[in-house]
Amino acid sequence: MPFASLGLSPALCRAASELGFTTPTPVQTQAIAAIVRGADVWASAQTGSGKTAAFALPALQQHQTLMLAPRTGGARRAHTLIVVPTRELAAQVGEVLRSLGQHLAQPPKVAVVFGGVSINPQMLALRGGADMVVATPGRLLDLVAHNALKLSAVQLLVLDEADRLLDLGFADELNRVLALLPAQRQNLFFSATFPESVQALAQSLLHEPVRIEV
Ligand code: AMP
Repeated sequence: MPFASLGLSPALCRAASELGFTTPTPVQTQAIAAIVRGADVWASAQTGSGKTAAFALPALQQHQTLMLAPRTGGARRAHTLIVVPTRELAAQVGEVLRSLGQHLAQPPKVAVVFGGVSINPQMLALRGGADMVVATPGRLLDLVAHNALKLSAVQLLVLDEADRLLDLGFADELNRVLALLPAQRQNLFFSATFPESVQALAQSLLHEPVRIEV
């Protein structure tokens, strides 16, 4: 089954094929269909399963739809927030979003922010806003505290590698981030493992999720 039959636009299918993605992986087939119709997703997926494109492609499709709607002025406010455990993963996810979004009529402004480096360049990069933000939890909260970023327009939340987020001790930060988001939103939850703590987080976050196991 090609990407186009999952409801993705020609610009996204072209970008996918340029990355060498001809056939969707199992997690992509299931997740993209569910996400495009607006469902929450509970996905048990390892690194290497193609999970990044599984949420990046439908997130970009939603970006495209939002860009077609008339915009009320002011800075771009992020509609998609992707929370990840490490700076390496943040950089990778940002790269995938930029590559897959490159042929859209209005490619998204993607901001990648993580701790362990100076906050100032990240504050500068967020000037004028961003459409999609990829972030580690602590730095995300710092940037919100500095008024560099607002989370009040987030419509799509992705927790990537949720088990590692909890393993690395991000539970408190994560809860503080969740409290800043609009209640009305779509949630996607990706984790390689589902110990009790991860299940509890998924259950508290997801509304009637489509369950995917690959
Ligand atoms: P991920 O699980 O997101 O870390 O992706 C694992 C690897 O698979 C990455 O190198 C991707 O570029 C690649 N990949 C993702 N989706 C596809 C696909 N549909 N066809 C071929 N390769 C893919």
